[in-house]
Amino acid sequence: MSISQPRLRSMLRQADKVAANGKRSAAEDLYRQITEEAPESAAGWAGLAGVLLDPAEREQAYEKALALDPKNKAALVGLAELRGEPIPEFPEEVVEEPEPEPVDEHDHGYTAVTPDEDEEEEAHIYYCYRHPNRETSLRCYTCGKPICIDCARKTSVGYSCPDCQRELQDKYFNATNTDYIIAAVLAVVLGVIGGVVIGFIGALTGFLFWIIMFFVGGAAGSFIGGVLKRAIGRRRGRYLPMIVAVIMVITTILPVLTLGGGFIGMIIYLVTAVPAVYYQMR
Ligand SMILES: [Zn+2]
Ligand SMILES: [Zn+2]
Repeated sequence: MSISQPRLRSMLRQADKVAANGKRSAAEDLYRQITEEAPESAAGWAGLAGVLLDPAEREQAYEKALALDPKNKAALVGLAELRGEPIPEFPEEVVEEPEPEPVDEHDHGYTAVTPDEDEEEEAHIYYCYRHPNRETSLRCYTCGKPICIDCARKTSVGYSCPDCQRELQDKYFNATNTDYIIAAVLAVVLGVIGGVVIGFIGALTGFLFWIIMFFVGGAAGSFIGGVLKRAIGRRRGRYLPMIVAVIMVITTILPVLTLGGGFIGMIIYLVTAVPAVYYQMR
């Protein structure tokens, strides 16, 4: 026995729940973890067979379960169904223990050895699917996989696992490669225009221009960000705000240095306009 009985029971219960909730691939992950850690668990193999898609793989898993426990009910029924054979009957005599037991206990092919109170408590102890040694009571609200507090991300609806978070983010960040190119090219054009304006006017005027920049910088940044955002159909890119901000800084500094003027106006412009662009691009 490679893992403890209570842990195996807890993992099986958890996998069964996830499977019962129709989270097939999450349940497959959990059963695979069980058969990896406890390859001697007939219930683990039978459970895995129940959620696999490939008929050959399913048959193999059922056969493994029956090799370990020839009386495993789930495997006998599942295999018969899979092969289109008549579903075997299960007279009461087949049941090993005469006293009645909870149904799900039987399906696993194991016998309860702990008192009911312990069972109740155990039902809430899971093991993080990324840290199999960490006990946790948290589960992902989307896929039902157990997660430790380090892996869990609190959202408004509950805890979410990193896999589901990434999936959500992939949906959130929907900008295409073309969007990146359009935004970058447009940012260069608008950035250079801004830089040239500051370089020229800044070199000619002085203090008044700094004050104007102070008030106009944020609006200019918002305007540029708005134009870029519209140009890419308001889609969001994970790295777009950063890329555009860097382009803005470079395309502002270069013309000002070339034209030799308006340094203070430029600094004021940068600290007001660039954050505004960044904010718009998020
Ligand atoms: Zn974890
Ligand atoms: Zn999840």
